[in-house]
This record gives sequence, structure tokens and C-alpha cells, in this order.
Amino acid sequence: MKTTRREFLKSVGMGTTALMAPNLFLNSCMKQDRPNIVFIMSDDHAERAISCYNDTLIHTPNIDRIASEGIRFQNSFVTNSICGPSRATLLTGKYSHLNGMLDHSCTFDGSQLTFPKLLQQAGYHTSIVGKWHLKTEPTGFDYWNILKGQGQYYNPDFTENGEKRTHIGYTTDIITDQALETLDKLDKSKPFCMLIHHKAPHRNWMPNLKHLDAYNDQDIPLPANFHDEYTGRIAAGEADMRIDDMYLTFDMKLHSQSIEEETGSGGKKSFAEKVTETWKRTYNRMTDEQKAGWDAHYDKVNEEFKRLKLTGDELLNWKYQHYLKDYLRCILSVDENVGRVLDYLDQNGLTENTLVVYTSDQGFYLGEHGWYDKRFMYEESLSMPLVMRYPLEIQAGQVADSMVMNLDFSSTFLDFAGIAIPAEMQGHSLRGIVRGNTPDDWRESIYYHYYEHPHGWHDVRRHYGVRTERYKLIHFYEEDGFWELFDLEQDPSEMNNVYSDPAYAKIVQETKQELVRLQKLYGDVDIDKS
Ligand code: CA
Repeated sequence: MKTTRREFLKSVGMGTTALMAPNLFLNSCMKQDRPNIVFIMSDDHAERAISCYNDTLIHTPNIDRIASEGIRFQNSFVTNSICGPSRATLLTGKYSHLNGMLDHSCTFDGSQLTFPKLLQQAGYHTSIVGKWHLKTEPTGFDYWNILKGQGQYYNPDFTENGEKRTHIGYTTDIITDQALETLDKLDKSKPFCMLIHHKAPHRNWMPNLKHLDAYNDQDIPLPANFHDEYTGRIAAGEADMRIDDMYLTFDMKLHSQSIEEETGSGGKKSFAEKVTETWKRTYNRMTDEQKAGWDAHYDKVNEEFKRLKLTGDELLNWKYQHYLKDYLRCILSVDENVGRVLDYLDQNGLTENTLVVYTSDQGFYLGEHGWYDKRFMYEESLSMPLVMRYPLEIQAGQVADSMVMNLDFSSTFLDFAGIAIPAEMQGHSLRGIVRGNTPDDWRESIYYHYYEHPHGWHDVRRHYGVRTERYKLIHFYEEDGFWELFDLEQDPSEMNNVYSDPAYAKIVQETKQELVRLQKLYGDVDIDKS
């Protein structure tokens, strides 16, 4: 019978800590046994749209399978809830103020230390397929095949190791095709680390043709705080990310001839003037055959919109239904492609020795507070889904409550690969947690900092904050700044800012002290508040 590394180490009297020791015997042992890493990340996938987190909206059997055969994290958070910055933190293990990727006006400096570079130096084959969105070319990868910018849902443009190529088909499928073809060609005697990064379910939520009619007959209930009036929350009231303001063309995917005028603001004023043209170009990327499949569903939607002439709350509910259904349809493709990867690992004898991770670069609003999009430190966009499987070390069916972050991925992968974690990386390895041994001194609070204002999309003010198990303190610090405090136990949907409530004076003081402690710990002390 094959002896696993864990069993073998146990038989010679070596526990978990010994795995980290610089030891020639161990090094030779680990060279054969280091796990492969398959890191699947989607874009803007909210926990509420994964059935192992919440089974009211969608069934995602393949993502659920990773959780049931491994571990699900209930308190997983992002440092800065926006695409590029989340990816930079993933690679570097550092907060945005140190890796330089504060927001989308920045360009990622690829000369920095990243975990793929260290894995590559240690003999791993490293690769990334799919969304990159960091402007500069990937570094530290033996193979890279990335979408141009945000990427397109249909017939995407890729750059493969520097060479441009357009593929015909649906992007979520194509990313997986490319990933599996690459895996197939690898020398499997060497460990590999592959990042599979989906574009979906990012705006503007274009489903695969085969899923266009899913949810047609359902009416999706509105979240309880859908009609939020933002009392006591100034920045929330200012933000331009309401479903109410979605574009009828680009977001709702109506043809310009079906509407009287484009009434959306959609998050960026300069975009409003050209949105109809952008949607036309997006639609026209499709082949005639794809258009025929698309029109078979969407012609009816266009006709319905013209016929109903909805206004007010009826129009808002109509938009919500169409937004949510297209979002969920995109996730059906993500989930089935996660299944294809798991099947590939099964069929090639790789399941046992591969660490599989599924996450999203951040969460998303599915109508909570009346919103779509992310950016705020409120729970829906602060939370990242996170499930992991590695049969050799992770006992099946675990649920973890520890507070973990995207800051921790780099340290975790290096730890699993037996590589020393550089002191400059600010996260911590999750290896102890997934083995059921959460370190006694594990963090009890997390620090957050968002920057994309006043430029950029959606008018969300800059803010930083701290979240403890029960409380969240946020400082919107630009100009005449203001504070918010939420008691997550009493008010889990963060509707009631209790910052000025005398009953919470002591909590305000304590959480402010914790905020200052974390800012010093992470070196985020020189903040421009102009
Ligand atoms: Ca994103």
C-alpha cells in the first residue's frame, strides 16, 4: 500500500513542525511529494451565489464538491475590494500600499517578489490562464495565456506567452480548454502550480448560450434591504452603483431600438455617452451562429421590455430579475468548468496530491443595499468565497471560522511547497488551519483599505477600516471625513451606523485602537487624506 508523506513522517516520529525544518532528508523527501497547486479564481463571485454557502439562489455542485472533500472558510476577506488590487495582493502577499497596485489607475510592477517566482525557482512549473488585468506582462510564469484587459465573454482575445490570438467560443469554456491542454503537456514528474482565472461572472454578465434560459420561470426575491435609503451612511448614499441606474443597453443587453433613451448612469459618467456603441460592438463580436442562439432568448426580452413599458419600482424589479438571472447563468458555466478541472485531476491520478483552491477576487452585491458591484468594506464585497481540497492533508468536510485573507495565499502556497516564507510577505500560511491546528495567536481582526476615488468608477469614497468578529469600524477619510461603526451581531446587514451612539463609545475607542495597531503592523501609516 502506498504510504503518504504524512503517514511516513508520522512513522518516523516527525510532526507538522518538522515539515518546515531545513533538513536534507526532508528536502529529498519533499521533492517527490510536494503538492501540485490548482488555484481557480473567478471574478466578482459572491458567496451568496455558491450553494455550499447559501443554497437559496443557485446549485453549484462542483464548487461544493471541493468544500465537501476539503474545507470551507466562512470568514475569508479581501484587503481592497477591486479586481487588479486583489490580484496584486494575491501574487505578492502584500497590501496595496506596498505592492503599488492601489487602484486601476496603477500599473503592476512585475519585478516584485511573488509566490509564482519562488515556486518556479524551487522547480515548480508555473502557469496562468485567463484574466490577469494588471497591465504589465506576467512574470514568474513558465506559461501564460491571458485575456486582453477585462476580457470578453465571447470570442476572447488572448496573449499567449507574448503572442496575440483570438479564440472562437465562450470564454469560461475556453479558459478551461487552454488550462487542461497545458496540463496535458506537462512533465508530471515535476510539481506544477496553475492559476485558472475566470472573467466570469464580471459585468456585463453574458451567459453561455446553453444557459440563457435557466431561471426563466423563476422570480428571484429581493434582498430585505434592497430599498435602502442609506440613512447615517453618507458614502453609501453618494455611490453610483444602484441597480436602478444600470444601463438598459450594456447591462440589460437591450438593443438601442428597443428603448426610447439610455437612462442609466452605470457608474461612470464618461462611459454613459458611448455605452450604446459599446454594447453594439460587444454584441457584434459574436459569430452569426452565436447571435442566432443569443437572439432566440434575447429577442423575447427586447419584445417584453417594449410591450410592458415599465416605470418606477416595476422597472427596478425587472432590472433586478434580469441582472440576477444573467449573473447566475454565468456562474453555471464557472461551476461546470470547475467540474471539468476536478474530473481531469481524477482521470489523471492527480487528485490526491493536488491542492485545489476555489475563490473569487472579491465578493459582490446581488441587490443588497440596492446595489451591484463591490468596493465598500461592507460584508457582501469584503467577503471572498474560499474552499480548498488536498486529500493528503485536509480532512474532508471541515468548516473554518478563522479570519483569513487574500493576503494569506502566497504564504500558504509556499508553505505547502516547503519553501521558506519571505519576511516581506504580510500574510500567514493557512496550512495549520486546514490541518485542524489553528495557531493560538491567529489574527482576530482584519484591516481593509480602498482607494479608487475620486477617479474611476462608481463614486465610492476612499476608506480604511477594521473588522473584528463582532464589530466593523470604517473611516471615510477624504476631506471632511466621517466614521461608521456596525455591530454585526445586532445588525448583520449593516444598516445602522452606531458610531455616534453613546452606548458604543467604548467600542469606538477599542476599535480605533485596533485600527491604529493594524495600520502600524502593516506599515500603512502615511495616508494622503486630501
Ligand atoms: Ca473582481
